[in-house]
Amino acid sequence: MNAPESSALIRQHLIDPEVCIRCNTCEETCPIDAITHNDRNYAVNADICNGCNACIAPCPTGSIDHWRAIPRSAAYSLEEQFGWDELPQENEAPDDSASRAGGAALTQEAHADVVDGMQVNAATSPSSTVAPWSAAHPYINLYMLKNPVTATVAGNYRLTAAESESDVHHIVLDFGTRFFPVLEGQSIGIIPPGVDAGGKPHYLRMYSVASPREGEREGYNNLSLTVKRVVCDHEGRPVRGVASNYLCDLQKGDTVQVTGPFGTSFLMPNHAGSNLLMICTGTGSAPMRAMTEHRRRMLVKGQAMEGKLMLFFGARKPEELPYFGPLLKLPAEFIDMHLAFSRVENQARAYVQDKIRAAGTAVTDLLKGDTYIYICGLKGMEAGVMEALRDSCAAAGLDWPALHGKMVGEGRFHVETY
Ligand code: NAP
Repeated sequence: MNAPESSALIRQHLIDPEVCIRCNTCEETCPIDAITHNDRNYAVNADICNGCNACIAPCPTGSIDHWRAIPRSAAYSLEEQFGWDELPQENEAPDDSASRAGGAALTQEAHADVVDGMQVNAATSPSSTVAPWSAAHPYINLYMLKNPVTATVAGNYRLTAAESESDVHHIVLDFGTRFFPVLEGQSIGIIPPGVDAGGKPHYLRMYSVASPREGEREGYNNLSLTVKRVVCDHEGRPVRGVASNYLCDLQKGDTVQVTGPFGTSFLMPNHAGSNLLMICTGTGSAPMRAMTEHRRRMLVKGQAMEGKLMLFFGARKPEELPYFGPLLKLPAEFIDMHLAFSRVENQARAYVQDKIRAAGTAVTDLLKGDTYIYICGLKGMEAGVMEALRDSCAAAGLDWPALHGKMVGEGRFHVETY
């Protein structure tokens, strides 16, 4: 006789709230919307999840990869998961459940369709889940919520003009004698002090590193961040961003609790001849600044990489474009720069996608070569950028959908948007 449906065991997919960095990658990747979040936790809906594993490889921490064997009737609800500070013990049997078991065997079983660490269905993701083949090996998860590292503020400078609405800061954190290696494109977590409205400690907030691997100041154990003070939400309603205001108000000598580093795929190639096509808006420029600065320093040291750099960078006005001054000093033969300003008086509004179209064959010629694309910034620009690349490719006789799929699979198309 068959077991009743409610007592049949399912393999429930869970996210470890202690390790999760709330980067939203899993929710974005899930092709069937099984992952959701509240203001604290990310959770997997057991009624929807089909164990397709699309979310596993993109997760920068591994927090996504937890499994429990559970009778369907006792599966952890979204509400239960939203309330967790840590994963329940394996084999823990709360009141109404006959058995909730987990372990390595289940994880192995869940990975049955993963070949050599590569996701079989990675092609469903619009962004590469693997790093460029020549990227340096990243360290990840060295410091987590339970064992953060203390960094000291070595500098905090406003990047945007004093009179401009947008308050963006360049913040330098020093790790002293603590080991904290980061690569361009990686992120770190900042734990703001204090508690949230529910009396729980604030969860960490993620920021991309804006400095190259050798440090903001070469030879020093430090890094920099590009942080915009959040004073309103995407709809323009007033809100006070907890972490961004905390960071922007820091003084030299203050200490900060840091986790990370995080990120295994949004990394730059290290082989000679590799081209970088970088597209960003606002503070999404942080990883582009790190990559550009790494290549600039190599050039200064006589270790030029031959590959080309092309940058499309959007901001409202020149006064609001982070790193505007230093960018303008870079020679045209080092980087092909296209700045798009959307709110300059008496000027037509321009977005990065307009500049991509206008650049025409300069972009498509690059796409025919050994090129790595990085897109970072506002979520809203993604669709426009994809359309511009598609149209430019069509005009040059290139099949963008095919090229995009190839680049995704080869670790050559990286997107980080919020
Ligand atoms: P922003 O100042 O609001 O916008 C930058 C530019 O993008 C403006 O010119 C804006 O034009 C334009 N824009 C708006 N909608 C667009 C669209 N659909 N297509 C193309 N361009 C568009 O930018 P921000 O506040 O700095 O935001 C940057 C984003 O990067 C945030 O979402 C942040 O979370 C994310 N990010 C930050 C980091 C970091 O480390 N700090 C790292 C990764 C990502 P208009 O406003 O005039 O329409």
